[in-house]
Amino acid sequence: MELIITEETPPAGYERLVFAQEKNSRLQAFICIHSTACGPAAGGCRMWNYASLDDARTDVLRLAQGMTYKNAIADIGLGGGKAVIIGNAQTDKSNALFRAFGKAVHRLGGIYYTAEDVGISTQDMAIVAQETPYAVGLEGGVHGSGDPSPFTAEGVFQCMQAGALDIFGTKDLQGKRVLVQGLGHVGMSLAQKLHSAGAHLIVSDINQATLAHAKTQLGAQVCDVDGVFDLDMDIYAPCALGATLNSESAHILTCKLVCGAANNQLATPEIANKLQARDIRYLPDYVVNAGGIISVAGEIHKRGQSYRAQRLVGVTKRIEVILSQSRVSGKTTSQVAHEMVLDMIPKASEKEIKMQ
Ligand code: NAD
Repeated sequence: MELIITEETPPAGYERLVFAQEKNSRLQAFICIHSTACGPAAGGCRMWNYASLDDARTDVLRLAQGMTYKNAIADIGLGGGKAVIIGNAQTDKSNALFRAFGKAVHRLGGIYYTAEDVGISTQDMAIVAQETPYAVGLEGGVHGSGDPSPFTAEGVFQCMQAGALDIFGTKDLQGKRVLVQGLGHVGMSLAQKLHSAGAHLIVSDINQATLAHAKTQLGAQVCDVDGVFDLDMDIYAPCALGATLNSESAHILTCKLVCGAANNQLATPEIANKLQARDIRYLPDYVVNAGGIISVAGEIHKRGQSYRAQRLVGVTKRIEVILSQSRVSGKTTSQVAHEMVLDMIPKASEKEIKMQ
């Protein structure tokens, strides 16, 4: 059956929104290009069992805009985009599905690079790559970047040190009580770095096997999933789900610094004010967790490890600037980051000048 690509009218401020479907493979996917002002759009492909097409559309729009901000602040010459495949990642995957998705990405002619996100593995992306060169995050090859998680963890770790310097007066994490919530690809790698840095590691996960590993291998203290916010800690590192910072948790959190990999940590934007009012430094998630997309950018631009390392250092420097501007202006770190990112995205008129 034929792949059908339907152009939808995107909301104001977005460049494109397409719906791709193919009957035989049961592909139903949205691809959204939020902005190509900084370069071709890049952002992962998520596979999720959305309750409705509307839910999937809302998610892809939100995620694509987030990628514009993340990619701009990481200074990697890429715009923001995202894809979502509607389906159950445990039961609905097939070769045909990913090949049809690859064809859809290819039809966009290189304005969007796709990669792994929730529900999508490097093996799945390798199938997508059979249909298009605009699939990245691949294992092997000269520039293949593979699993981005270690880079994400390294970026979070470096930003945490910068945050510690701001709030505790030292980058040294020795003896600091750091709670890592979620010991997955990023969280476990971060926990290892914290262990090496001599931090007092506290961990929480729903997976008992990973908890046991962290306890025996890293000497971590294990915390009940529901008891995370009752515990005394210096630093909270959310590395599982989004929206863990809500009016309730922001009220009882005992830490002085929040720095973790999870996307969309603030349940609502006003939580940033609540945290600031309690003298808790929140490091904006899309700045701190940019290591993964930096790793992917290295593959897109065919650059080596030094490119990735330089860009990671750039992210830490940006966090330092955000923290100091926030202190001087009294604005929240979220607001400072938001203003910074808007300054880094060329306006449509500047983009035309650049392209001439
Ligand atoms: P992952 O799926 O490998 O790990 C998530 C971990 O969280 C799992 O171990 C899971 O058991 C645990 N978990 C789930 N619910 C929990 C709960 N209620 N309490 C405690 N633990 C719970 O995911 P990941 O790739 O490590 O990513 C972690 C977060 O960072 C996600 O929000 C992701 O979107 C974000 N992120 C990841 C990357 C990356 O490079 N992987 C890049 C940017 C952002």
